[in-house]
Amino acid sequence: MDWLHRTPPWRPPWHGGLWRLPAALAQLGGCRRVLLSFDDGPSPSTARIAETLQTHEARALFFLLGERLPGDPQPVTPQQAEAGRITRELLRAGHLPAVHGLFHRRQAWRPAAAVTRDFSQAAERIQAACGFAPRQMRPPYGSWGPWLHRIPRRLDLQLVFWSYNPFDYRPRDPHELARLAGQGLQGGDILLLHCTGAGQEMTRAALPELLARLRDRGLAPLDPLCLLETGHD
Ligand SMILES: [Zn+2]
Repeated sequence: MDWLHRTPPWRPPWHGGLWRLPAALAQLGGCRRVLLSFDDGPSPSTARIAETLQTHEARALFFLLGERLPGDPQPVTPQQAEAGRITRELLRAGHLPAVHGLFHRRQAWRPAAAVTRDFSQAAERIQAACGFAPRQMRPPYGSWGPWLHRIPRRLDLQLVFWSYNPFDYRPRDPHELARLAGQGLQGGDILLLHCTGAGQEMTRAALPELLARLRDRGLAPLDPLCLLETGHD
């Protein structure tokens, strides 16, 4: 049932964005590469997932929500201060913070000006938190519209979707998740996972076996810093 988790290739042309790794990155350093990506942070579970990745020498792209981070003019909550610390820690550990929007909402039917504001404010909060201006964006649910296609370039952000979604937000046995993604992923795939929410503890628990299965098949996680060298599409 692997096809259930693979994003079909017939996407509308206006959708744009990166769905799989460019050829030069899919085979980097003589190894077939996959990109690990985690949505919906930063939260305390983001920190635990980053730690697990570090133990297993893997780096990932983290799509963060601006509302979780400190931002003017509201006073900073203790949770936001902690989320800021976690964002700095992600960057320090070699992961790449990216933009998931200010709030977790569907963007496809919203006016372009509002969507632009949403992503630019989120990018500002991430930069204020960790000193790094994010270079990638991913709309929540992959919800995007034809009239939004100029926004990524305007904000100097690369639009990144995914090619493999094992539905890790539906809690189940971590071994099942590790087996599914460990067998289903191919070189060049972008894996969608979540670091916050109902399934995150299962996701964290699945990572060591998932990474071992990938390495057994000659696949290695791409260092997301390599994405910074590719152009926007
Ligand atoms: Zn999300």
